[in-house]
Amino acid sequence: MINYDLAVIGGGPAGYTAAELAGKRGLKTILFEKNALGGVCLNEGCIPAKTLLYSAKVYHSAKDSAKYGITCDQVSYDLSKIIARKNKVVRKLAAGIRAKMTEAQVEVVAGEAFVKIRENVDHERIEILCKEQVYFVKKLILCTGSETLIPPIPGLKETAFWTSREALDNKELPESLLIIGGGVIGIEFASFFNTLGTKVVVVEMLGEILYGMDRELSGLLRSELTKKGIAFHLNTRVVSVKNNQVEIEKAGEKQILETAQILLSAGRKPVTPGLKVNEFMQTDHPDIYACGDATGFSLLAHTAVREAEAAVEHILGNRRPMSYKAIPSVVYSLPEMAGVGKTEDVLQQEGVAYTVKKLPLSYSGRFVAENEQGNGVCKILEGEDGTILGVHILGNPASEIIVIAGIAIEKGMKAEELKAMVFPHPTVGEIIKETL
Ligand SMILES: Cc1cc2nc3c(=O)[nH]c(=O)nc-3n(C[C@H](O)[C@H](O)[C@H](O)COP(=O)(O)OP(=O)(O)OC[C@H]3O[C@@H](n4cnc5c(N)ncnc54)[C@H](O)[C@@H]3O)c2cc1C
Repeated sequence: MINYDLAVIGGGPAGYTAAELAGKRGLKTILFEKNALGGVCLNEGCIPAKTLLYSAKVYHSAKDSAKYGITCDQVSYDLSKIIARKNKVVRKLAAGIRAKMTEAQVEVVAGEAFVKIRENVDHERIEILCKEQVYFVKKLILCTGSETLIPPIPGLKETAFWTSREALDNKELPESLLIIGGGVIGIEFASFFNTLGTKVVVVEMLGEILYGMDRELSGLLRSELTKKGIAFHLNTRVVSVKNNQVEIEKAGEKQILETAQILLSAGRKPVTPGLKVNEFMQTDHPDIYACGDATGFSLLAHTAVREAEAAVEHILGNRRPMSYKAIPSVVYSLPEMAGVGKTEDVLQQEGVAYTVKKLPLSYSGRFVAENEQGNGVCKILEGEDGTILGVHILGNPASEIIVIAGIAIEKGMKAEELKAMVFPHPTVGEIIKETL
């Protein structure tokens, strides 16, 4: 019989964060991972996608270098080398996670774990089964993550379509790519393949891409991507798929689109459905917690990490509830877009009065210095008392500067308080101070 204070199932951002923190804080911790440490995020999500996008950015910069007085003749790329570098980055970071587990004295078990709750005479007991071994644990955190959602589109099952997994490992550039779904993942892949020269078409069921993000900025990003050659079909449903033909329907009109490759990017769903949690990530069972994509409501690695911290703190007897007030959403496309806090759509639905402050990024000296002919916008939504409710940025490096706004929103700061902070000059982040 082996006893543990805590078992964590799933070694993605939620799982490895929970295990590391618990181990460091003295809990005898065991982590089960059936595939690869790092989960979707490290092995087939955030990190590989951003590594590929960085190669695309370098390629784009080299091609664009004449605008900056630099001559780069015969710029080209080798997709198999781009993929090889991506794999190297993943291996390096995976080794880092393994080292963290060792340092925190977390026992890592490679294999699929199954949970059994056994009724004892006086109390319940949580048992984990993995590879014919039984582990008894006092507390359990489920961090089993999510998987690609496959909608029931006629013909899809019989077609060799890509999900994000295949798109990240493909070594031959398709001549054309039709992406089903204009969410964050779909748009990032659209940007990557478009930059390398693939003819990209995005089919989105809703009236705008990037559902949940600022609608105006999403439209502006779509215009930027359209200028680069990406075609968008909004308010359009994929009716059926047959080999290289995709039948779409818009306002009752049907059309067939030909494509060399289909990429399905219509969302993700939790691997373990139906997990409901409270603000400490505790499920209905007081000794069982769930964090990350497993809960199904944020599907972001940075949310997963913070939820894992909240869960472990609660297990240790500390009440540090999870807050969803300032979870940044980021699209790492060329150009980037990011937002945090409320959007105008949400404020209107909630009936909250707000004012909009907006400036082009060209008000930032650094942005102008680094973005020849680049467009961008910073939009800040303020409540009647001056509280910052939402910040939305289109333009590079939105992903890096959005955290300033996230901290301000989480802390309930007023515009005048954030404006009174000293921002380093020249930085693109100064646009936030300028816009306030
Ligand atoms: C292409 C792509 C790009 C993305 N980009 C971003 C991004 O830029 N930023 C961002 O924040 N998010 C991004 N995401 C989302 C991000 O990857 C997830 O939000 C994140 O991985 C969730 O972490 P997690 O720990 O909850 O689950 P996961 O990372 O899914 O990890 C769950 C782990 O649990 C394991 N597991 C499941 N069941 C068992 C079991 N019974 N026994 C043992 N092991 C089990 C799985 O093998 C898996 O390794 C992206 C996702 C994709 C697909």
